[in-house]
Amino acid sequence: MSDSRPAKSAGYLARTRPVVPPIYQSATFYLDDLAYKDIQDGGLREHWYSRFANPTVDAAAAEIAALEGAEAALMTSSGMSAIATTLLTLLPGRTVAARQVYGDTRDLLVRDLPALGVDVVMVDATDIGAWAEAIAFAPTAVVYAETLSNPQLDLTDLAALAELAHAGGAKLVVDNTFATPYTVNPLRHGADVVVHSATKFLSGHSDVIAGVVLGDAETVTEVQKRVITFGGCLDPHAAFLVWRGLQTFDLRLARSCATAAQLAERLAAHPEVVSVRYPDGEIADRLMLPGRRGAMVAFTVRGGDSRALAVMRRLTVASEATSLGGVESLVSTPFNSSHFSLTPAERAAARIDDGMIRLSCGIEDPDALIADVERALAATV
Ligand SMILES: *Cc1c(COP(=O)(O)O)cnc(C)c1O
Repeated sequence: MSDSRPAKSAGYLARTRPVVPPIYQSATFYLDDLAYKDIQDGGLREHWYSRFANPTVDAAAAEIAALEGAEAALMTSSGMSAIATTLLTLLPGRTVAARQVYGDTRDLLVRDLPALGVDVVMVDATDIGAWAEAIAFAPTAVVYAETLSNPQLDLTDLAALAELAHAGGAKLVVDNTFATPYTVNPLRHGADVVVHSATKFLSGHSDVIAGVVLGDAETVTEVQKRVITFGGCLDPHAAFLVWRGLQTFDLRLARSCATAAQLAERLAAHPEVVSVRYPDGEIADRLMLPGRRGAMVAFTVRGGDSRALAVMRRLTVASEATSLGGVESLVSTPFNSSHFSLTPAERAAARIDDGMIRLSCGIEDPDALIADVERALAATV
């Protein structure tokens, strides 16, 4: 067998460098005396084993750190890995969380963390008085919220919540998946840690599952120690897809947000639409960058969930699928997907209306997408 090992200097000492980060699809790296010293010094970011660090994974992390204005970023194998690993790092301790959270995050908060002995209290994300009361009630380690909730599109007043969390000695962890760093940087509003499902808008092409944790270097290092022991690291090939998607992040989001704004305006005036959820008002003005309200729209049609299903199934531009944040518009009805396990009364309490449709705007021609929705509404009267 021939020795196909690359020269030890390959990729590092070459005079020219690739424009696109190579996919370092290597579990391990050649060691030398300096590397052993790094390992013995506890170096977590050196490239010697890819569960600890990998250059392609680092390239994706650096891009997202810049987008969120974070000192440090850590890629994980999924959004849920980012959330669970972060919480298990900052706990044990009492947790106060928003009631309006992603379904699997809800299972983590109401099933898995209590099974480990964590006291979890949930409050309405939009009720700052309820947050204050719950945080002041007992010593609290973690306060958890989504900037913009799924699927109600409720905004959390992050600055006010950060103040309450810090006064109570807690860390504020924010899931910024729906809002994206294109509209809000939660760290600038007082959040201590930001998590994302990078599966969604960050990678943008519905072709990879990934997550990211952002914050100060010290906290992110603590989370990284748990990625190392719990094992939720990102594969280099997946990291490359995230990196590649990020190259068009601003362009995609500019287009998708503009489409969402147009669609929300048209639907608000539509006789077959009862209500539209789309960020506006004082908190949106304070939190979100000017003219940027995100790419998600939720709307409730006359006729309830059966009509919503019929409307969704008439769409030809938007695709009926779970997930969001891709270049293609994706549509779902919460009653039979993300929130099927709730009773109608529980859905109503969570502000999920009978007849609600959630739409993630892609980068198609906005007029074609709007016409598609209007056609589906007209066809189902
Ligand atoms: C999708 C999603 C998650 C979970 O992310 P995965 O990458 O699917 O693990 C968490 N939070 C929100 C808001 C999401 O939309």
